[in-house]
Amino acid sequence: MDNQYDLDQLRRSKEDLEQLVAQHFKSNNRQTLLPKKLEDEFWAFNIDRTRVNAIQFFGQGVITYTIFVLLILPSNYFVLRESPHFVLDFIYSILSLIVVGAALFLFWAFSRFRNLRAFFYPAACTIVFFTIVLTSSLMIGVSNVVLQNQAMVLVAFLYMLGFILSGIKPLHMLWIGSFAAIVTLFFLYFLNIPYDLLMIGRTFIGSLLLGFSISVMLNSKEQRIFIKSKISEIDEKILRLQASELLHLSQHDELTNVSNRRTFEEMFTHYYNLACKESTSLSVLFIDIDYFKNYNDFYGHQMGDQVISEIAKTIKSSIRHMDFIARYGGEEFVVLLPETSAQGAYAVATNIYRAIDRLMIVHEKSLVSNYVTISLGITVFNGNPKISQDFLIQTADKALYRAKQLGRNQIYYQSIRTIQTI
Ligand code: GH3
Ligand code: MG
Ligand code: MG
Repeated sequence: MDNQYDLDQLRRSKEDLEQLVAQHFKSNNRQTLLPKKLEDEFWAFNIDRTRVNAIQFFGQGVITYTIFVLLILPSNYFVLRESPHFVLDFIYSILSLIVVGAALFLFWAFSRFRNLRAFFYPAACTIVFFTIVLTSSLMIGVSNVVLQNQAMVLVAFLYMLGFILSGIKPLHMLWIGSFAAIVTLFFLYFLNIPYDLLMIGRTFIGSLLLGFSISVMLNSKEQRIFIKSKISEIDEKILRLQASELLHLSQHDELTNVSNRRTFEEMFTHYYNLACKESTSLSVLFIDIDYFKNYNDFYGHQMGDQVISEIAKTIKSSIRHMDFIARYGGEEFVVLLPETSAQGAYAVATNIYRAIDRLMIVHEKSLVSNYVTISLGITVFNGNPKISQDFLIQTADKALYRAKQLGRNQIYYQSIRTIQTI
């Protein structure tokens, strides 16, 4: 029942997702709004992915960047040698490189350490903002024109990293980038640092527009991949549920939901072999409802079905977890009690008998009681492999037959030794 409910729900979610993918295709690659829950899930997934990227790329980035700094410093020296503010320019360029290096390191740290991970997103936004402001201000503050031009490349590069690799949402990054650009320009203005507004302005605007459109496009593509991966996840769940449902159906009886005859054969062989191997006893109980044909004839088949189902439930709740119950035939059940002696089996049989008695299902056509009763046959296998499985079943059946013969509504124990000598 639960399975069916889960299956229906899964199929519905799958249809919804497929519709979203179709909309994505129709809108020709443009952004389609995801439902709020899915959108949140997508970003959570995206941040997780960025974290993995950050660990891989930024960790490596720090090393690559250090090598880059070591290579660029001597060449900067030759450029700066001609500059009138040689020392200041040199310090500024080293500081800007340190800022980028520190930013890369922080990115790596926030993705690497578990207690910092919860703050990854706000940290990423803050790091990107300050890196742009500090690096741009420092590099633009350099008096040497060659280095100022170089700064534009670095600024554009930082914007691209922010938009594409930081895991920040495109719209958030647009705000952060714009704010960083304004703050930088104010900074330069108030510090009275001379700069080429046209070049810097174009770099900022160009980087923002290009970065934004590229990240929107990439996001749309990634959302589609995300939805498809969700669909495959659901497909897998559906298949797993169907497989487990099929397995359950093949092993259980539909009316009573206890194991069927086929499963009994398998379990019986398993417990029989176990008893032989470990020389322990295995008790077998056969249970049959008394005068059930009369019940069916008088109350109808449907009521009969309800009684069979009720009795199965009652037997199941009267046995231990490790014991096994199956519907052996029409209104006949078999119970296997591993590691149980005759005394133990008799106690369990009495429990079952009393539990059925307490149900007090009215049976006017029974010749032994006013209520539905059962007859039980018990036999106990002692683990001796000379006694075959078939013989064991025959003995249990014989015990039930004797219970019926002696008047029904009772328990009969048939020892194997007795029957062998008969
Ligand atoms: P006894 O006390 O000797 O057992 O008498 P009985 O009438 O119960 O005899 P038996 O065990 O041979 O009865 C089998 C009857 O159980 C026949 C049929 O009417 C009924 N029966 C078997 N399977 C089902 C079932 O799935 N549903 C219902 N409602 N009745 C069933
Ligand atoms: Mg019967
Ligand atoms: Mg029967």
